[in-house]
Amino acid sequence: MGRAFVYVILGGGVAAGYAALEFARRGVAHGELCIISEESVPPYERPALSKGFLLPEDPARLPSFHTCVGANEEKLTPKWYRDHGIELVLGTRVKSADVNRKTLITAVGETISYKILIIATGARALKIEEFGVRGSDAENVCYLRNLADANRLVSVMQSCNGGNAVVIGGGYIGMECAAALVTNRIKVTMVFPEAHCMARLFTPKIADFYEDYYESKGVNFIKGTVLTSFENDSEGKVTAVILKDGTRVPTQMVVIGIGIRANTSLFEDQLTVEKGGIKVNGRMQTSNNSVYAVGDVAAFPVKLFGGDIRRLEHVDSARKTARHAVDAIMAPEKTGDLDYLPFFYSRVFTLSWQFYGENKGEVLQYGDFSSGRFGAYWIDKGRIVGAFLEGGSREEYEAIAKVVKLKVAVKDTAEIERQGLEFALKV
Ligand code: FAD
Repeated sequence: MGRAFVYVILGGGVAAGYAALEFARRGVAHGELCIISEESVPPYERPALSKGFLLPEDPARLPSFHTCVGANEEKLTPKWYRDHGIELVLGTRVKSADVNRKTLITAVGETISYKILIIATGARALKIEEFGVRGSDAENVCYLRNLADANRLVSVMQSCNGGNAVVIGGGYIGMECAAALVTNRIKVTMVFPEAHCMARLFTPKIADFYEDYYESKGVNFIKGTVLTSFENDSEGKVTAVILKDGTRVPTQMVVIGIGIRANTSLFEDQLTVEKGGIKVNGRMQTSNNSVYAVGDVAAFPVKLFGGDIRRLEHVDSARKTARHAVDAIMAPEKTGDLDYLPFFYSRVFTLSWQFYGENKGEVLQYGDFSSGRFGAYWIDKGRIVGAFLEGGSREEYEAIAKVVKLKVAVKDTAEIERQGLEFALKV
C-alpha cells in the first residue's frame, strides 16, 4: 500500500504553509505535492495560539488564522489546497523515514514516497518529566504547542475563572500565557529559575520594565527557583505546586512553558544534526541532496553571523526558510544562499516589541523606561549586531532592522546612547 509524490512536506505547521504557497506560485502541478501532518487541520499561524486564541472576548478561531495571513498573504483554507491539487494528509504521524529509499511510513502503515522531501517537523514542548518532576499529565496542567493544547488551555482557563494559576517558565510562552490568564481574570504567579524574565534576550533593565508592568496587573513573580512537585486532590487534579526553595503555591491550574526540542528523531541516524537541529546549507539542503529542512527543526548558516550555524525558533525564520527551500528546489539556478536577518517579536497586554540580530557584546539602552518608549542596541567589535524596541511604529522597526542588517559601525557609543532611536532613523 502506498502513494508517490514528487514533493512531500513532512509536518503541517507554519513552514509547511509558507512552502505550499511558494510551490503554488511557482506552478506545482496537481497531484505533485503532499503535506503530511500529525495535526488535524491545515497549516496555521502558530503564534496566534498564545495571543488572539486566548482572548476572553471574540477570540481568534480557525479558519481566521490559517497561514499565510501572518505575512499579509493569502489565507490557505482546505479549499485552497483542493483548488491547487495539493494533497493534505492530516491527522497522520510519520513514524519512520528512509532517506535512501526516499520513503516515509505513517503510523497506520502507509508508505509515502517522494523525489524531494522537505522536513518541517518543528519542535515539541519540553515536559517537566524530562527534568525529573512527575505529574504534568494532570487534567489542569497545560502545555502550549499546538491547537489541541490551546483548546485544552481554554477549557481549563474557563473552569478556573476568578481563580489562581501558576505559570512555570519565564520565556515568551510563559509571559504571553501569563498575560492571557490575567486578561481572563485569573490571578497569576510566575515561577522561573533565572534572575529575571526572558533571560535569554532581555537585559535586567528591560526585564524590570515588563515585570513592573505585569506586577501592576497583579502578577506575582517567584524567581530563582524551580518546581519540584505537585500536590493533588483525590481526583488527581493539581491543587498546589511545591518549589525547590520550599514555597508552596496553592493553585487551580498550571501552565508550563520551559522550552522546546526540535523534532529531529526520525532523521538523527540518517542526516547530519547540529545545534539540536537538522543541519542544512544556505539553500536549506540537508546532508542528503533530496532532503531539505526548514523552520524550527533546521540548523542553517546565518550569513550575518559569519555563516555560523543557528537553529532559530521563530515564526519569521520558519516562513523565510520555507520559501527559500522551495525557491532552491524549483529555481535552483536562480537561488543563492539565504541571507537572513534573525527577527523575533512578542505581544503582551497592550505592549509589543521586536528584536533583530543577536544580543551579543556591549548593550546600549535608550529611551524612557517609565513610559514604555525604549530600546537597546548590542555592539560587538565596533558594530551594531542586535537591536530591540518596545512599542515602535512600522517605520521605526524597519529602521532598527536596517542598522542591524548593515552592521552599522559605532564610533561614539555615548552619542548613540544619547540619540537612541533617532540614530537608527537617520541611517
Ligand atoms: P511547527 O509550526 O511547530 O509545525 C510542525 C508541524 O509538524 C506540526 O504540525 C506537527 O504536528 C508536525 N509534525 C511533527 N512531527 C511529525 C511527524 N512525525 N509526523 C507528522 N507530522 C509531524 N515565534 C515568534 O517569532 N513570535 C511569536 O510571538 C511566537 N509565538 C508563539 C506562540 C506559541 C504558542 C508557539 C507554540 C510558538 C510561537 N512562536 C512564535 C514560534 C513559531 O510558532 C515557530 O517558530 C513556528 O511555528 C515554527 O514553524 P515550523 O513549521 O518549523 O514548526
